Amino acid sequence: MCGIFGIRGHGDAAAIVQLGLYSLQHRGQESAGIVAVDETGAARARRTMGLVSEGFSEQDMAALPGSLAIGHTRYSTAGSSSIDNAQPVLARSRGGHISLAHNGNLTNATELRNELEAQGSIFASTMDSEVLVHRIARSNATTPAGRLADALEGVDGAYCLLVVMGDTMLVARDPRGWRPLVIGRLGDAVVVASESCALDIVGATYERDVEPGEIVTFDGQGMHSHGRTNGKELRRCVFEYVYFARPDSFIWGGSVDRARRSLGRQLAIEQPAPTAELVFSVPDSANSAALGYAEESGLPLELALIRNHYVGRTFIHPNQSGRDAKVRVKYNAVREVLDGKSVVMVDDSIVRGTTTRGLVAMVRGAGAREVHMRVSSAPITGPCYYGIDTPSREDLIAANLSIEQIAAHIGVDSLGYLSLDGMLRAVPGGPSGFCHACFSGDYPTPPPSDPNKLRFGCGC
Ligand code: AMP
Repeated sequence: MCGIFGIRGHGDAAAIVQLGLYSLQHRGQESAGIVAVDETGAARARRTMGLVSEGFSEQDMAALPGSLAIGHTRYSTAGSSSIDNAQPVLARSRGGHISLAHNGNLTNATELRNELEAQGSIFASTMDSEVLVHRIARSNATTPAGRLADALEGVDGAYCLLVVMGDTMLVARDPRGWRPLVIGRLGDAVVVASESCALDIVGATYERDVEPGEIVTFDGQGMHSHGRTNGKELRRCVFEYVYFARPDSFIWGGSVDRARRSLGRQLAIEQPAPTAELVFSVPDSANSAALGYAEESGLPLELALIRNHYVGRTFIHPNQSGRDAKVRVKYNAVREVLDGKSVVMVDDSIVRGTTTRGLVAMVRGAGAREVHMRVSSAPITGPCYYGIDTPSREDLIAANLSIEQIAAHIGVDSLGYLSLDGMLRAVPGGPSGFCHACFSGDYPTPPPSDPNKLRFGCGC
């Protein structure tokens, strides 16, 4: 997954982008980048591995002048962890520049890339996103919007794109609308961001969402929508509401906090825990869901796990033993809260089961008498091909074990997941119009011909 942020019409564009990227850091922590375009049309890039807070010195920022800038935070699997895959991509073509930042995964990237390579194209990275840059460069359309529309012809899968050609900034969202993308205003400047929380941090006001299938340009003439491509069913990623987006964001017109509370309430209705005395969350992603569970069940909400905020997301560690150690580094249990108690532990999802198993052991070690695990989403039984870094089926615990077997494996007294139907009804705008492929197996596109290559080569 990734975060994208752009601004046009602000004297200190790169600095605003840097700020915006801070609040999109949860969408990607592997690398970050900014491309800025100055008044002479010169484009400059700074890309760095790691966090936004660590990658941009004062000197780096001073070297990114201009009133137009776009940025990217990248989250990917360990295999593709390389500066070559950091974004935004910046390429020179026909005397101009094209820069591009992508959130999502293209499902037919391998075919598109093979086609380009057969015609002599060479690539500098293993990202699916680079395919788009080549396709833009090859278009003979006369306007930036025309070139982008040409490039997107026949491209399938998930994309929110932020593109710069000359002094035109463009955004595009795939017709199924998998990922969120919002437009805001900061004085006379226009701002675009993956999530509304990034508008808040820079002091911008929300104007509207980029619509599925829409291309919007921002240039000297202002903002212009080039309409929507038609014909695809809306498939917003429900996992954005469950886990990925920040609770202080509004996505697709709904509050992420409210969505998670409502998931938690529905979970308490479907999966009560009659003997429990208190409820707590696995912080931070399940905080709002645990609140909802507590509200609905009437159980007191306690803070039983403390999260160390200076450790990145558990998933990012490249191998399994590293992940086990990281659970202990990342969380600690509060004995005072847990000792002798029968407890409900709420998490938003179980993926491999590694973190959960470690946490349950930790909670028991702190004296909990009974542990009842409740999950505010349905069991994840399939990989995501559209931008969320879920592992392949072999590593997904719910694809391989029954609920009872998972309960035994993670060491809980009881385990209850939210139903697929309950989950889709609980989120704003549900139950239809969502992608739930990783829960239901209902994939809106054919699976990629080479899913592993895509996973390790993806732009996101
Ligand atoms: P595990 O027990 O190892 O399956 O880890 C479960 C935890 O992973 C939960 O707390 C989730 O919030 C978190 N999680 C779910 N999806 C992802 C993801 N794509 N990347 C990182 N963490 C995730």
